[in-house]
Amino acid sequence: MPFTGFPAIETPAGETPAVTAPASPCEGEDGQTFLSDVRLARCLTEWFWEGRFQQDGRTYQPITRFVAYNGYDGPSCGAEPSVPNNAFYCPDGHFIAFDSVWLQELYDQTGDGSVYVVIPHELGHAVQALLGTRFTFNVDRELQADCYAGATLGGLIQAGVLKEDEGDDGELLANLEAAGDPTDAWWSPDAHGSPERRQSSFTQGFTGGVSAC
Ligand SMILES: [Zn+2]
Repeated sequence: MPFTGFPAIETPAGETPAVTAPASPCEGEDGQTFLSDVRLARCLTEWFWEGRFQQDGRTYQPITRFVAYNGYDGPSCGAEPSVPNNAFYCPDGHFIAFDSVWLQELYDQTGDGSVYVVIPHELGHAVQALLGTRFTFNVDRELQADCYAGATLGGLIQAGVLKEDEGDDGELLANLEAAGDPTDAWWSPDAHGSPERRQSSFTQGFTGGVSAC
């Protein structure tokens, strides 16, 4: 999923631009390594939401921290300690933390798409918190975060800042499958939805945009 850079602001031939284009917020990240991809996924996703919020006359609040941890040494969220092999958004402090050893393993095994599913999904929870969205069942919260992740990637590809590699589609969907619950126990408090439901939510956002979520 190569980063193609932000689109140049076009000015008619012969005219000098009246304003200088703002510096790319993701400058210095080439997406060539795991850590750069992770930072890029965060930066691009927040850039996407900043624009969306602006369109709606709102102000997006960037997360306050983006914490990489290893196994059990992650930050706690309220009274909840962080656990290995996980990534999470914490509303208490508005931050995201991820087990970077686990995420890098996913990245090495399944490709960079893993990062572009996990990070936008967690930032989707940040967006839900900012919007104050309420859910009856946790699974609805999770499926909407998958939908937001799809909308983010679709939007970034549409904006020309991300280019889809051949096979990315399958990669992204495979990641959701790996992260899907083994059963569709949607009533369970930690339910994330079956692989099929997660994939279809993601696709719904990818093709229909944020309003489809
Ligand atoms: Zn989630």
